[in-house]
Amino acid sequence: MCIFCKIISKEEPSQIVFENDQVVAFYDINPKAPVHILVCPRKHIASMKDIDEQDGGVLVDMLLSAKKIAREQNIDEGYKLLFNVGRSGGQIIDHIHLHLMGGWQS
Ligand code: AMP
Ligand code: ZN
Repeated sequence: MCIFCKIISKEEPSQIVFENDQVVAFYDINPKAPVHILVCPRKHIASMKDIDEQDGGVLVDMLLSAKKIAREQNIDEGYKLLFNVGRSGGQIIDHIHLHLMGGWQS
């Protein structure tokens, strides 16, 4: 099982900030922004390279969850959403995740 599947199933500790039936979101262990959260589907999908039409629902849920979390975290004045795809695209963990980064001074 991959590290993010273990976090999602709570076999590995993490600081979960949001969950619903499709998505789990937790703080990045090595934050690159004042607020840095990873939004993951419960379903193991390795990368954006592996998504197909069937995954449309969960991808929309990830985006709507990110919007909700940004509001809850008080960073919705401005933030970044990022997918790293493939090793040369900076992806280290092979379980798709959306980086939600914000909290800089405006
Ligand atoms: P990526 O480079 O897009 O694959 O992003 C992986 C992210 O996962 C990095 O920003 C790491 O800091 C973060 N990360 C790795 N292990 C953990 C963990 N156990 N808990 C929380 N975040 C993690
Ligand atoms: Zn996984």
